[in-house]
Amino acid sequence: MPELPEVETLCRQLNTVLPGERILRIEVLDPRLGNIERKRGDSAIIFPESAVPDDSGPGKVAGLVGRRVAAVTRRGKYIHIQMDGGLTAALHLRMSGRLLYLAANVPPPSNGRREGDILPPPRARRRKDCVSLKGETLPLSLPETRVRKTGAPSPLAKKVGRRPPFFPYSRLVIGFSSGTLVLIDPRRFATFAVQPEEITPALPDDPMEGLPAQRLREIARTRRRPVKSFLMDQRLIAGIGNIYACEILFAAGIDPRRPACSLATAEWRKVAKAAAAIFRRAVACRGTTVSDWRDLFGCSGTNQDHLEVYSRQGAPCRRCGGSIERINQGGRGTWLCPICQK
Ligand SMILES: [Zn+2]
Repeated sequence: MPELPEVETLCRQLNTVLPGERILRIEVLDPRLGNIERKRGDSAIIFPESAVPDDSGPGKVAGLVGRRVAAVTRRGKYIHIQMDGGLTAALHLRMSGRLLYLAANVPPPSNGRREGDILPPPRARRRKDCVSLKGETLPLSLPETRVRKTGAPSPLAKKVGRRPPFFPYSRLVIGFSSGTLVLIDPRRFATFAVQPEEITPALPDDPMEGLPAQRLREIARTRRRPVKSFLMDQRLIAGIGNIYACEILFAAGIDPRRPACSLATAEWRKVAKAAAAIFRRAVACRGTTVSDWRDLFGCSGTNQDHLEVYSRQGAPCRRCGGSIERINQGGRGTWLCPICQK
């Protein structure tokens, strides 16, 4: 799951390619994209008539076509693509969503087909810097790809009556003159909604902007659950997942099993400081790639080289030389140094 530094990385990279660009086409390949937001009953999300995907065929979000991107901002884990004329496209990647930007100066397939169904030659499949989706590995540089001659449409493509999408699990394609933005999402939880610019729903605290230690202490005062699960509660704090929760608690010297209510304000300050520092570095490293995270241009992040505890069971703690342990917490792995974390 992309955590906050990964979403921030995408926003920064989108800001290097999108502002000033006009939307030439937008295709919703999976009508479920919009419906989820509506089902959630979030009254802040409004679909202008023209932005509702057309259920009768390929979804066209007509209200956005022709608009120019003003800026890309992040609010919590929402990516806000702000358009001129006061509309914002709010994108949330949820469990497995990722964004890929393909620059237009890459030559299109030359056999007269439309941009569909690109598969790598067998040799490229072994390359490390490829996109890996459910065992399928696709290289990102188009010159090394070839077009499959007879591609059977994917079940999803059949369902929405379309040619096979650019990449497996493509759900949304936005075409600009400089390139194409593709939302890829194997598990189909990502959401996309168009809303007036002024709507800013209440958001959880943002670790990149500094967590309010005093207020966290107040909220945690009555909560007996482990501090790690408290940190990962997305209703309270935006974007701390399993990797960063382990790293933040190690940096703060706090045992992840301690009840949230047992932390003093000074300890919450350590947590806030650790979260800000770790997230800053993670963004500078374009995220943590331990499994499938890739940045906007398909490259792995490098923050995994800086992880102190996550997935390092048995390895020596870089602070005290003791052994990193892995424990189970709520069905998920937690890594800690039992000497450094109290
Ligand atoms: Zn240690």
